Amino acid sequence: MGGEQVIVTIAVVTRVRAESNPNAEVVAELPRGTEVEVLSKGEAFVQISAWHPEHGRVSGWVHRNFLANGGELMVALDKPQSADPPCNACGSLRWFHTPIHRHIMLSLLEMVAVRSRICLSCGLVQDCIGAEALADMHSWSRA
Ligand SMILES: [Zn+2]
Repeated sequence: MGGEQVIVTIAVVTRVRAESNPNAEVVAELPRGTEVEVLSKGEAFVQISAWHPEHGRVSGWVHRNFLANGGELMVALDKPQSADPPCNACGSLRWFHTPIHRHIMLSLLEMVAVRSRICLSCGLVQDCIGAEALADMHSWSRA
């Protein structure tokens, strides 16, 4: 998968359609949590490519309501954190940031991207979220 253009489906079943309208032919149905690669974006629909367990690689159009964060990417995940704190265990400031992230669902529609940092001195693993995701969470809790 392409990395940063990947987002997950949040509906129980997400219909992939041949064209960007709700009446277009259904090409495939994706289970919740399928990672889809965003190819292009329309107003209500997003063009995606995904791996289907039976049909293999499928592509088509998916309504934004079925995608985490409405089909918009949440955070720039690979940006190094400017101010990582010292390691709790050994005080080192040398961290390795894992390029792989996962999503934690905060509610039915809200997800936050989490990744890990590993202390290069003692091996302590910590989970963290990016500053932008944190800002999003603050805005959600105000709403
Ligand atoms: Zn350490």
